[in-house]
Amino acid sequence: MQRSHLAAASAVALLALPFAPVPDFWITQLNYIGLFSLVVLGLVLLTGVGGLTSFGQAAFAGVGAYATGYLTTVMGLSPWLGLVAGLAITLVLALAIGALTLRMSGHYLPLATICWCLALYYLIGNLEALGKYDGLLGLPALTVGDFSFQSERRIYGLIWVAALLAAVGVTRLLDSRPGRIMRALNTNRGGGSTMPEAMGASTFRHKLTMFVVAALLACVSGWLYAHMQRSVNPSPFGIKFGIEYLFMAVLGGIGTVGGAFTGAALVKLAEDQLKVVLPLVFGGSGNYEIIVFGVVLVLVLRFAPEGLWPLISRLIARWLPARGSRAVDEHAPRLSARSHPPRGAALLEVRQIRKQFGGLTAVNDISFSIQAGDIVGLIGPNGAGKSTTFNLISGVLPLTSGEVRLLGQRVDGRGSREIARAGLSRTFQHVKLVPDMTVLENVALGCYLRTQSGTAAAMLGLDRAEEMQARAEALRQLRRIGLEAQAHELAGNLALGPQRLVEIARALASDPSLLLLDEPAAGLRHKEKQALAEVLKQLKAEGLSLLLVEHDMDFVMKLTDRIVVMEFGRWLMEGTPAEVQASPAVRAAYLGADDLPDERRAAPKPAGISSGDRSMDSSNEGQA
Ligand code: ADP
Ligand code: MG
Repeated sequence: MQRSHLAAASAVALLALPFAPVPDFWITQLNYIGLFSLVVLGLVLLTGVGGLTSFGQAAFAGVGAYATGYLTTVMGLSPWLGLVAGLAITLVLALAIGALTLRMSGHYLPLATICWCLALYYLIGNLEALGKYDGLLGLPALTVGDFSFQSERRIYGLIWVAALLAAVGVTRLLDSRPGRIMRALNTNRGGGSTMPEAMGASTFRHKLTMFVVAALLACVSGWLYAHMQRSVNPSPFGIKFGIEYLFMAVLGGIGTVGGAFTGAALVKLAEDQLKVVLPLVFGGSGNYEIIVFGVVLVLVLRFAPEGLWPLISRLIARWLPARGSRAVDEHAPRLSARSHPPRGAALLEVRQIRKQFGGLTAVNDISFSIQAGDIVGLIGPNGAGKSTTFNLISGVLPLTSGEVRLLGQRVDGRGSREIARAGLSRTFQHVKLVPDMTVLENVALGCYLRTQSGTAAAMLGLDRAEEMQARAEALRQLRRIGLEAQAHELAGNLALGPQRLVEIARALASDPSLLLLDEPAAGLRHKEKQALAEVLKQLKAEGLSLLLVEHDMDFVMKLTDRIVVMEFGRWLMEGTPAEVQASPAVRAAYLGADDLPDERRAAPKPAGISSGDRSMDSSNEGQA
């Protein structure tokens, strides 16, 4: 038996429960657990995976409940129309709220979610048409043909089918083209927008998608709730429930589908027990369970910060082996490839590019060009402006002046997503892999622009053929760099050297016309450097065009056709490796840099700026 079989067996058992002599009390409990799980599954995606904290999910459940409440009681329409209307309103609302708030960073987003949750709550509570704080009564039961879901035992099936389908959808989504981008976004786990954008993905669009999916799941929960209760009032949709949903997600194991169900079940069951027990202890009535939840949350965050599901999951793994890594069908049809320029054609032209940071000219009118098939090195002492030049070319930084052309098209000022589309791919000086994704998945992320499947296709499982192609391509690229054997390991478990190679494979997976490498040898041990040099030599033999930005002179000498040398932001010389090696000016620049008095070398750098000579730990910061 495999874990997927266990999951399927549990699902069948759950759905069969109402046919067994289970007391009504437990059916009701399970109904609530299913309804909560639906909302929490959205939070798994939004907060656990995407790192976007929302206290406002209860409000979207409210939209689902009130839309159907109003349409069925006031207008006499069918509950199914109520569902459609609720989903439509939620979609519009989530798009609008998301567009306004998702660009906010840090704690502004959670604060904004509290604001709109409160706003919607008071709006609902004050609208005459929605019955103010008394709400709407007498909602009809859901029916399909002649069958009515009027009893708790009957609506149970509907609730759990919805919850389980949502679980399948979210699981599939996480293992898909858009899902890989979503998993790369979480800044709490070292992710961010730079890498996904460099792969050609719009990070904002993916955040918005997660937000909308989470809102729609909450809306469905609200709709089911309204027809289970046969009435709606504002209280279950206020901020208290918004917080409670987040509590369930954290307690269960935020970021895991199993955690959504675990958290919902634990909170619901504990709440009921505590409501009975605590008044006996404290005397009198009151919401004492809130106090207990607060204490439990602190304990969980302290001792099991990943939540409870990972612990349970590990227990299950003891007697049931973890799901075998998904086989890769190597005979899957290849992904479309771009037509590359013939050897010697103009590939990259950099003309007089300049970058000023306030008074500092980090890159001072640098020009050079790369022909197809060239391997060009950009070297210079620390602080020479190499990384800044790299960022100007790859679109991470805007230029102060100058021009960059890729395959004849102007790309300066276009942003890294567009530049990736034009055929440039890159790696990062500070490795940016998604540590809790496998090596293969990380490389498949590089296929983003060569594939099409969106979120809906992924959730419905319609992307499987294309997924196979992407995985086969990822495996091919891993073989190209000699890491095929590690394909199914977690990327975070690799040493820095192999991680750098995985970044190269990911960049290659986009089928680039030009590959830019930023200090690929920084922080590597001797053996790792040799392995990297071998891979680069082989890529060179295959005719790939490369721009290698490197601090380590010896490393570039053996690999490049031509070298551009920078010093203090200026162009110092350009020539063959032999010419550069023989140049007194270059030697002076390198020696001079090492002879600089300490205070100049230690000049403070702005946060987040990479410097060439940082070793292992800082080079590895993306993994933290
Ligand atoms: P290299 O990669 O050659 O070591 P960089 O391009 O990182 O050099 O930096 C060149 C100069 O520009 C350094 O003096 C650095 O402090 C400065 N610099 C780089 N990025 C920024 C920034 N975002 N703001 C201000 N100064 C910067
Ligand atoms: Mg640098």
